[in-house]
Amino acid sequence: MKPVAFAYYRPQSLAEAVRMLREHPGSKPIAGGQSLIPLLNFRMARPEALVDLNRIPGLDEVEVRGQRLRIGGLVRHQQLHEHPLVRQHWPVLAQAAGEVGHWAIRNRGTLGGSLAHADPAAELPAVMVAADAVFELVSADGVRQVPAREFFYGYLMTALQPDEVLAAVELPLASGTSWGFAEVARRPGDFALAGAICECRPDGTGAVTWFAVGGGPERHELVVAADANERAAQWQDLAATLDAQDDYRRHLAAVVAETAYLRSLGRDGQ
Ligand SMILES: Cc1cc2nc3c(=O)[nH]c(=O)nc-3n(C[C@H](O)[C@H](O)[C@H](O)COP(=O)(O)OP(=O)(O)OC[C@H]3O[C@@H](n4cnc5c(N)ncnc54)[C@H](O)[C@@H]3O)c2cc1C
Repeated sequence: MKPVAFAYYRPQSLAEAVRMLREHPGSKPIAGGQSLIPLLNFRMARPEALVDLNRIPGLDEVEVRGQRLRIGGLVRHQQLHEHPLVRQHWPVLAQAAGEVGHWAIRNRGTLGGSLAHADPAAELPAVMVAADAVFELVSADGVRQVPAREFFYGYLMTALQPDEVLAAVELPLASGTSWGFAEVARRPGDFALAGAICECRPDGTGAVTWFAVGGGPERHELVVAADANERAAQWQDLAATLDAQDDYRRHLAAVVAETAYLRSLGRDGQ
């Protein structure tokens, strides 16, 4: 299939981009095109116009600002996976980015695009929720900050308004917490069937954030049991409460949680 006809704009600044989105109702930003182009081709999305973010300077930068790691919305998944600052401060994010699709997809797809698209099986929204990131949303009216934990509403639904651009995300610099990541997919590069990010704090408390199990990232605080049998029961009890697609996903949720937990301790998991 081919997309329906649309106008195409290539702004040179963020201010110009948000002005275009405001002036052209029914328009959509396009970044890596790895989710939007298939939707256009299947005519599941029929925007009047596309506003291409790729020429906007400054949106692809990664930097430490005070006590936060700031990542531009146009940073590609592969850049996230390889960037020294991400590897140093948020290795679990670098690892998760390396699990997104295949190299060709990671080479084009962007952080902002993944978060705006909000696929429940996507890795990066879940890391943002786990990490308590804050998103910077820019429109012609100005800038608003939205915590990741308030941004995702459900399947492909977010707090993002049609005339807003997700310009950057900010993550707190890590503080002695250890992290583990695990996912199960049918083949390398496929979307996950279930995934988990486990966080263990020095005081013994922790949290698990699941993705690909239900309609979006789901985070639960808990004190993880040291005993493996008790822990297995803990994961199963928690997984039973998830708004999962089916029992198979609940089973996988318990499996990936345990693997992510063991990895957070530096053990290999399964
Ligand atoms: C075969 C295949 C396998 C894949 N596997 C995975 C996977 O395993 N895990 C995974 O997470 N993803 C996967 N993806 C999706 C991929 O990660 C996409 O890159 C990502 O979902 C969207 O990023 P993008 O930059 O390509 O966005 P686009 O496709 O350009 O846009 C997606 C949506 O986000 C909006 N948008 C884009 N950027 C912004 C912005 N900065 N501000 C506001 N709105 C914006 C667009 O308007 C559109 O609605 C896969 C894709 C394919 C084709």
